Formats: sequence, structure tokens, C-alpha cells
Amino acid sequence: MHCHHRPKRTSFLPYGKQSIDEDDIQAVVNVLRSDFITQGPSIERFERKIAEHVGAKYVVAFCNGTAALHGACFAAGIAPGDEVITTPITFVASSNCVLYSGGTPIFADIRPDTYNIDPDEVARKITPKTKAIIAVDFSGQPAETDRLSMLAHDHGLVLIQDAAHSIGASFGGRKVGSLADMTMFSFHPVKHITTGEGGVIATNSEEYRNRLLMFRSHGVTKEPEQMERNDGPWYYEMQTLGYNYRMTDIQAALGVSQMDKLDRFVARRREIAAQYNQAFSENEGITIPYQHPAAESSWHLYVIRWNQGTDRAKAFEELRSRNIGVHVHYIPVYNQPYYRDLGYEQKQCLHAEAYYEEAMCLPLFPGMTDDDVQDVIYAIKEVLRG
Ligand SMILES: *Cc1c(COP(=O)(O)O)cnc(C)c1O
Repeated sequence: MHCHHRPKRTSFLPYGKQSIDEDDIQAVVNVLRSDFITQGPSIERFERKIAEHVGAKYVVAFCNGTAALHGACFAAGIAPGDEVITTPITFVASSNCVLYSGGTPIFADIRPDTYNIDPDEVARKITPKTKAIIAVDFSGQPAETDRLSMLAHDHGLVLIQDAAHSIGASFGGRKVGSLADMTMFSFHPVKHITTGEGGVIATNSEEYRNRLLMFRSHGVTKEPEQMERNDGPWYYEMQTLGYNYRMTDIQAALGVSQMDKLDRFVARRREIAAQYNQAFSENEGITIPYQHPAAESSWHLYVIRWNQGTDRAKAFEELRSRNIGVHVHYIPVYNQPYYRDLGYEQKQCLHAEAYYEEAMCLPLFPGMTDDDVQDVIYAIKEVLRG
């Protein structure tokens, strides 16, 4: 059967993009006209809104997700000599936060089907020096937090979930944000909701929350019950070396407004993923994303494997020339020159390497029209036919 011919797209379709509407703009303008553009009431409003949505007791906002991960490593007590196990198929920030803290990232291979960290590989990499696991919910599909929590519990490790891709997702019927000791969400414009730059840690631990609050603001506290002494109403204490990692009220107000649309954004992403699944399930040469039975993804990325001997790099260029903004997420982190120079063995994880040879992300964001989706499907099938 011949497909109806579609003309080439005239505009470039990116792999991800924010959706900002007039309510969002108004929310930001309102804050700009108010008394506080930073350290004001919008921060707590945003934190509470996320906490309620994801089912966590506390949420602490940061200027970006990377700073939030650095905070999580600090709160977990990561220090020189400590090992932290994470996945190589992630953005570099997931392991850089361990280096910031003086710890040593250890890479455990992914499962060949979900592309998430393999709990059996994590178990093999645990040593007496291991302090934490940083699991990444790659593409929006939660990692196996049931098995990872058990490992963490049995070995006295802190489980940190890098959920930059997975706000709105769940595992075993439980929301991401309520599954690990600390969970990071990012609000970079390609993620589900945006604050321009921004991130948070969700946690049920009051102790972690207090450490995170101090860490994001110079290591300083003004809470009387936390201070060693109190000289008067002006008094504050710096008790640890923190940073200025605060989010502004301008960002938080945008975040509050964006949160109202999160469920709708996730629903649209799921719809588009279902359209791709249906279009490509019968195609030889493409593997569609496998879903773990307990995972309900919020679909940050739609990743296909361009396999069976076809040339991924050539297909990538042909799709880009058709204005389809395909992408490759991610280059295994240990292969980055900085990590190589630190002494990391190259190509150390076999499944991660095989994945990297064939992976390709298709455009996926809530603002895509059905027509945009059909453009992608048509272009892929055209390139597959050669
Ligand atoms: C985006 C992202 C981060 C970093 O978040 P920023 O807000 O950009 O600092 C960390 N990990 C993963 C997996 C990400 O996709």
C-alpha cells in the first residue's frame, strides 16, 4: 500500500519545547508588580503545590535541577571516599553532582529493554564504600524503585531518584516523588513543566528538608531551634558551607501556573506516544519503547531503536533534513572526555553501548499537533523505505 504523499515540513520541529499561555504570562507579570521577586511567598506556594501533587511531605525549590541534585548529595552526606551508583544513560548532571560532593560515581549498566538502571547490576556494584544510589527515570518511565528501595534498605544506602523526566509518572500505582528518600524534578523548558530554569527535591524526611534549605542558602539558618545561640532578632548562623541556589519568585510563580496544566500536558504526551506506538509497532527496523508492567510513564522522551543493520547516523541526518528534530539521548557518561581523564574505563557497560549505537528520540511535547505527529510518522517511514 502506498502512503499518501506529504509535502516536506517548512518549519523545524524540535524534540521538546515549553507550552506557555496567557495565564502563565499574567502570573509572572503579577509577581513583577508585587513586593517580592525573590525570597517571597511564591516559593512556598510552588513547593506546596508540587508536594500535594506527588504525595511528598516536603518540597524544596532550587535554581535548577542540577543544583537540586547537588543538594540531595549534600543532604545524603556524600563526601570524599564515598561511592554512589548511577546509570550511564543519563544527562551528565546525574553523576556530576556526586563529583561536586567529592564522591565517586560508579556506573551500573542498564536493562536492555527499559533502558533504566538494572537493579541486579546495582547489587553487583555495591561495596563497603557505597553510600547512595541515584536512579534516573529515563524517558519518563520510572526506574524499579521497589527493588532499588530494598537494596538501599538492606545496605543502608540513600536512594535518590533523578526524576527530571518523570513528574506525573507512577510505579506500582504510587506517584514518583513518594518512592525514594529524595526525588529531583527539573523545570528546564524541555521538561514537563517549566520555570525557565528550576528544580526541586521532594522528600518525606524533615531532616533532609532542613539540610536542603540550609544548603540552598549559604549554609545559613535563622530558625531559633536550629541555632547554637541567639544574639537577637538580627542573628543568623552559618553552620555549613552552602551555596546561593535559590529559585526566584518570578520562576516559582510561573511554576505554580504551569502546575495547573501538568495533568493535561502528561495526558497529551501519552496520547502522542500511543500514536507513535501504533504507527511503528509493525515496522521492521524500529524497536518501540518497552514499558515495565508496573511503570506508568509520563513520556518525556519517545526513544526508538534504529536497528537491524540500518544506519542510524544516516537516518538521523535524513530526518533532520526533513525538519524533524530527532535527537540522541544519551552518550554514556563514562565515555565523556572529562570522565575518561578521571580514569573511567571506556565502553564499560555493554547494554548502554548497544543502546547508544541505535537510539533516536522523536519529537514529543504537549504543543505538538496531530499534524506534527503525522509529519514525524511519515518522515520516519519514508527514511525506513530508503
Ligand atoms: C534536565 C536533567 C537534569 C538537570 O536538570 P537542570 O534543571 O537542567 O539542571 C538532570 N538529570 C536529567 C536526567 C535531566 O534530564
